[in-house]
Amino acid sequence: MAKTLSFNPDDSVHAFLTTIPEVTYGEGPLSGVTVAVKDNITTKGIETTCASKILKGYIPPYDAHVVTLLKDAGAAIVGKTNMDEFGMGTTTENSAFGPTLNPLDKNRVPGGSSGGSAAAVGAGLCDLAIGSDTGGSIRCPAAFCGIVGLKPTYGRVSRFGLIAYANSLEQIGPMARDVSSLSKLFSVIAGPDPRDATSVDRPYSHEPLKKIDGLKIGVPEEFFGEGVNPQVAEVVREAISTLESLGAETKPCTMPSMKYALSAYYVTCTSEASSNLARFDGVRYGPGLDSPKSWHEAYSEQRKEGFGKEVRRRIILGTFSLAAGYFGRYYQKAQTARQMVRDDFERILKDVDVIAGPTMPDIAFRLGEKSDPLQMYLSDILTVPANLAGVPAISVPCGRVDGMPVGLQIIGKYFDDERVIDTAYAFE
Ligand code: GLN
Repeated sequence: MAKTLSFNPDDSVHAFLTTIPEVTYGEGPLSGVTVAVKDNITTKGIETTCASKILKGYIPPYDAHVVTLLKDAGAAIVGKTNMDEFGMGTTTENSAFGPTLNPLDKNRVPGGSSGGSAAAVGAGLCDLAIGSDTGGSIRCPAAFCGIVGLKPTYGRVSRFGLIAYANSLEQIGPMARDVSSLSKLFSVIAGPDPRDATSVDRPYSHEPLKKIDGLKIGVPEEFFGEGVNPQVAEVVREAISTLESLGAETKPCTMPSMKYALSAYYVTCTSEASSNLARFDGVRYGPGLDSPKSWHEAYSEQRKEGFGKEVRRRIILGTFSLAAGYFGRYYQKAQTARQMVRDDFERILKDVDVIAGPTMPDIAFRLGEKSDPLQMYLSDILTVPANLAGVPAISVPCGRVDGMPVGLQIIGKYFDDERVIDTAYAFE
């Protein structure tokens, strides 16, 4: 029997782009649990904009696979959350509909790009949220808002219905206030889906365990290097000592490929974005022009008006790096560097069970602090390696600096999301 609940949150942080005042839900493991969904994941009959003007008014005729699974599990989907336009950003300031504020300090950003999802959960507006992580977009806002967020192993959650930004890097994942409820949400959304060719038959049904004794943790020196706020580094080192006191064994290691990770990430993601976003041509999506003079005018006018500055910057960068004469110089090099990142993880994870370090090099930025795009890109340095390799990574709150939360990042072997979750569970 379907039940209903009313949802009228006091959204003073602008976490939601759309809310559903009368939510219908059914029976199942998440019956009546309120779940917010990032606005780049399609919801049948509910506006889905990717926080972009070009998709304003777009009502998808179908549900993303994860949304179907949530509904089947009885979840109450209460709304669509704010984000950086198409997932491009680290602060949620790149939303075409205004930024989300950090619930712990409204002068600061919630992180991005799943900032609305993190703020909604962090502010207690709903129980759980779904985000997507292409280069850190679940883990960064989880760290900045003091909640838990998991980027699953690539392939473990279907991307069917996720409006693509950079397919080879991104995963949908769970966000929650604690590890046990994150684990419950993950068990609902993980598993195979024939509609996503990269989906893998690895369902998740696991109860988090406190099983730290004998765990081997690799600690790469590069995760504590230049650009990392020393106070953040210290809080994270203390968290790792806590794991040691619970019986874990740590091992210093190095990840030389880290110096190429950001370049590899930004060449790859902009290349994929330039191709993915070609479909927004002003004909199938967008408001359209009254009487365009030519196809060219219609196309370029719509894209100029419909896309924000950061999205246009990335389309241009990606188009450039894929151009015939430059392909070998940028895209191909990026793929070589990407392989080096994978090789580093494989080498390190032969010796240890997980890798630990900070999620972000700093605490939540003040609004407007990262106005230089390059400065913003630099802050992704610790999160992009896991996406380049496809390995699972979680962010769990582990302490505070200046009153703001710090996230501990735990990265694991392929399809070892269970162990990553168990390690984070030690902090609960
Ligand atoms: N901040 C990164 C970017 O702008 C990651 C975003 C994401 O994971 N969607 O690309």
